[in-house]
Amino acid sequence: MGKQSELLFEKAQKYIPGGVNSPVRAGKSVGMNPPFIAEATGALIRDVDENEYIDYVGSWGPMILGHAHPMVVAAIEKRIAKGTSYGAPTELEVTMAETIVDMVPSVEMVRMVNSGTEATMSAIRLARGYTGRKKLIKFDGCYHGHADSLLVSAGSGVATLGIPGSPGVPDDLARHTISIPFNDIEAVNQAFDKYGPEIASVIVEPIPGNMGVVIPDKPFLRELRKVTREHGALLIFDEVISGFRVAPGGAQELYGILPDLTCLGKIIGGGLPVGAYGGKKEIMICMAPEGEIYQAGTLSGNPLAMAAGIATLEILKQGNLYMELEQKSDVLFSGLENAARDAGIQVVINRVGSMGTLFFTAKPVSDFAAAKESDQDLFRKYYRSMLEQGIYLAPSPFEASFLSAAHTNEMIEKTIRSASKAFRRLRA
Ligand SMILES: *Cc1c(COP(=O)(O)O)cnc(C)c1O
Repeated sequence: MGKQSELLFEKAQKYIPGGVNSPVRAGKSVGMNPPFIAEATGALIRDVDENEYIDYVGSWGPMILGHAHPMVVAAIEKRIAKGTSYGAPTELEVTMAETIVDMVPSVEMVRMVNSGTEATMSAIRLARGYTGRKKLIKFDGCYHGHADSLLVSAGSGVATLGIPGSPGVPDDLARHTISIPFNDIEAVNQAFDKYGPEIASVIVEPIPGNMGVVIPDKPFLRELRKVTREHGALLIFDEVISGFRVAPGGAQELYGILPDLTCLGKIIGGGLPVGAYGGKKEIMICMAPEGEIYQAGTLSGNPLAMAAGIATLEILKQGNLYMELEQKSDVLFSGLENAARDAGIQVVINRVGSMGTLFFTAKPVSDFAAAKESDQDLFRKYYRSMLEQGIYLAPSPFEASFLSAAHTNEMIEKTIRSASKAFRRLRA
């Protein structure tokens, strides 16, 4: 890494645990220290040592328009001199809510929060309050933020009760979370057979992005809809990544499956800290002050975040962008696939629209167990070689790469050429 980044990381470690404010940033799984970022525009990100990279992290998903999009910047600038937080209702919040309800098929009412974690945490509280039940089903390798009930790792075997994925999460709470393999409807049915009347909710990333991208079997999502309905449990789609990413209305629009509740984040903040949860009116009105289930936030619906989010959604609503992203992503990922084949490296590529993951493996990746079988040492070497060549990827084999509207054909070609070199080095 560059000298300034190394110095900053050294200092950061003195004052911040691990030197970072979110663990994956530290780059432990690729065995190197992170570049410190100075600025970014469009699809290019620059570090404090003046290295420039083509960015496929996009702040882990939000930057679908690219960094510092002129219309988003203008929207923030226009608001900032009018005060940055009032703790009182604003018209911006109404516009935001109306826009979300407009765009996301299953959402009739929505509440804004400040992160994806808050969105999922609140949605499961609502699901538990609404159903009067305690248990949750989630899927191995799906990440729903770091709330206690959702930080449960994979138990071995099918339908095992959760063990906490982190010290500090009480067993008493974790045992209400059942984690089972993604795409495995048998396991879901077994869990419902065993615990049906106790299950408040099934929460799922309809297109998982946190074990690397995994493609849902459509019958799997359809079955989830059916089985939850039959047992009076709520289906929660965590669309914090897929919302506004794979279609204006997210995965639920793409697959035509409507959940009871939807969690949003990332893109709706236009790069500012935001989350949201919404769904059927009948369920949402159970939240205080209309109903009795409590959830609140001093900075919720923050005017700057609303302005940036609305500006972003306005552009996304106009439509053509998704077609363009699909085309560019196809060129990139099929280019990577061909380059790997030419170099004699076995890879599997999972992609939906502008989110995709390249796994170093020969077998299809349809769940977390398969993702974990991919060759992490090859990924580490690939990651380093790409970074050296000016391509900025997420520093983990279990993450998605994201394209933005700002990625140009030239950048994509450069990325494929760099990957080609990286793959050939892996053979050497
Ligand atoms: C990022 C993410 C979250 C958590 O959002 P934060 O804003 O980081 O709290 C939740 N669910 C999914 C699917 C995510 O990708």
